[in-house]
Amino acid sequence: MPANRILILGGTRMARDLAAALVRAGFDVITSLAGVTDQPVLPEGAVRRGGFGGTDGLVRYIQETGIAALVDATHPFAAQMSAHAGEAADRLGVPLLRLERPAWERQAGDRWTFVTSAEEAAASLPCGARAFVTIGRKEIGAFFARTDIRGVARMIEPRGLEVPDGWKVILQRPPFSLGDEMSLITHHAITHVVAKNAGGAETEEKLSAARQLGLPVILLARPSKPAVQSFMSVEDTVGALRIKLLP
Ligand code: NAP
Repeated sequence: MPANRILILGGTRMARDLAAALVRAGFDVITSLAGVTDQPVLPEGAVRRGGFGGTDGLVRYIQETGIAALVDATHPFAAQMSAHAGEAADRLGVPLLRLERPAWERQAGDRWTFVTSAEEAAASLPCGARAFVTIGRKEIGAFFARTDIRGVARMIEPRGLEVPDGWKVILQRPPFSLGDEMSLITHHAITHVVAKNAGGAETEEKLSAARQLGLPVILLARPSKPAVQSFMSVEDTVGALRIKLLP
């Protein structure tokens, strides 16, 4: 098996950029997608889809596929996958790197409140709020369960979602411009923005729009992940893998 075979735990734009850069640099690349979207944007190189079956399944996959190094390029909120990657890498002694965008930082004029879960975010909205919620499909239930609030939920795919009265679901992929976000917020008379602290430029403009319009933002803080060697750029990650794996 090739000594330069890399498994990227993906599902993000950065993971796709990394796959392209590693293929260009001559690595043998497999990207793993969770299979949660029906029509994912596919990266360069090989792709596998679906869960591994916990840490044991990931350990087996790494052994059977001859993975020389693992890059966790999952979304900052994919805590379980990152935990499994940390455990599997420890057990096998396989190098594990993380590629992750820096979190957004509060700026002058921001009215941010940090929460640690979607439930807490939903509970923090006042009665009568019109929320713009961008936390994805899986955790939208806590908001839809509040019969005293309304709003707009933006996500990639609606799979199996029942949308209650008073809510509009918008299906769109980033990037979103400041103009997009300003007009969405004003058109729907939004009073609160709810988001995950994902970081990165592609989805940041909703925060700029909220700042300009003086709106409160409920921001989900990032979950903790295992401490591993981490990089903020594709170039630095490729450089580190070259040093580790290429002769
Ligand atoms: P999660 O809660 O950390 O993981 C749940 C389970 O899904 C994992 O235990 C694993 O199943 C499977 N899984 C997750 N990522 C996988 C991957 N890249 N390849 C194979 N299996 C994976 O993950 P999540 O938050 O549901 O996110 C799922 C995927 O969506 C991730 O790839 C992530 O990068 C992407 N994503 C997540 C968010 C977000 O807000 N959470 C936003 C954008 C994109 P097994 O235990 O069976 O291996």
